[in-house]
Amino acid sequence: MLQIHDTLKSILNSPANIVITTHQSPDGDAIGSSLGLMHFLLQMKHKVNVIVPDAYPPFLQWMPGNSTIINFSDQPDIAQKYISESAIIFCLDFNALSRIKQLGDLIQKSNSTKILIDHHRQPENFTAYSYVDINACSTSQLIYEFIASMEKIDLINKHIATCLYAGIVTDTGSFRFPSTTADTLRIAAHLIECGAENALIYESIYDNYSENRLRLLGYTLQHKMEVYKESGAALICLSNNELNQFAFTKGDTEGIVNYPLSIEGIKLSVLVLEKDGVIKLSLRSKGKFSVNDMARKHFTGGGHANAAGAISTLSYNETIQLLKNLFKQYAEEILK
Ligand code: 5GP
Ligand code: MN
Repeated sequence: MLQIHDTLKSILNSPANIVITTHQSPDGDAIGSSLGLMHFLLQMKHKVNVIVPDAYPPFLQWMPGNSTIINFSDQPDIAQKYISESAIIFCLDFNALSRIKQLGDLIQKSNSTKILIDHHRQPENFTAYSYVDINACSTSQLIYEFIASMEKIDLINKHIATCLYAGIVTDTGSFRFPSTTADTLRIAAHLIECGAENALIYESIYDNYSENRLRLLGYTLQHKMEVYKESGAALICLSNNELNQFAFTKGDTEGIVNYPLSIEGIKLSVLVLEKDGVIKLSLRSKGKFSVNDMARKHFTGGGHANAAGAISTLSYNETIQLLKNLFKQYAEEILK
């Protein structure tokens, strides 16, 4: 369980201007942990602004407080103003300023007291306080532990509970990944007692897809999933053209990379997306093979042992070729 420093506890006990930031292309845990912490800090009488680097999908835009989130790419001046007025900046669900692009420069230059709360591997040292637990299922669980360590568990209201529950559900693959522990389930149970409506939250996230999104999934599994049984690996590549055919919007490919892992004997799955000239990789594994290591060693990326992301500086076709070579090279380790 996360234990916060006494000095930080006393800093947070007097009202201040606070900014909360999270990683680019925010996911459910990024938004859930940020808004969950925001509602907690509001209860503590702080003035709080959540700033995200860029847009996030509609199926994450329903959480309480969503309308107050500032998107840096749309409103850089307002974001800059809030950062310059802040005394404290929380950095949630990412561990390197490069993960938040230009917003990272502003945060680096700011003299505010910075606090990192995260669960990714190999954090960089850019904050005065750092609470990193790489075994935690989600940053949202760490926010719950943070509140507990502040001895303010009684302040958890329906808003906080809803946001943190949404973050935990999304980052645990609905409580199925190995990072789900007895503590996770105890915390989730308590969040339900505090007002989180579990069925409604699940529905808001997962039963809210566009028709195009489901058809893209069908097309991908039928036509684009390449299975390399001898390496225990699978590859899905989607080009700009293909994404456009399905009127791709942010979030539409989320979760696709997990499907090949449901094939018996497949322990590594990689999704390559060509989006506006950027080649983005999502890597997932089952068991001991570390996709964090693969993403760091062969691409510019990182994440967790079983879930990582990266950007490739090679072309779309070169990236695909490199991945096929890596499957052969690592076959023994993948299959272990
Ligand atoms: P996803 O495949 O869903 O984009 O990301 C999987 C995990 O890897 C997430 O926890 C995410 O924070 C992390 N991740 C994604 N892209 C990158 C990246 O470019 N660099 C690093 N260091 N981590 C990433
Ligand atoms: Mn997370």
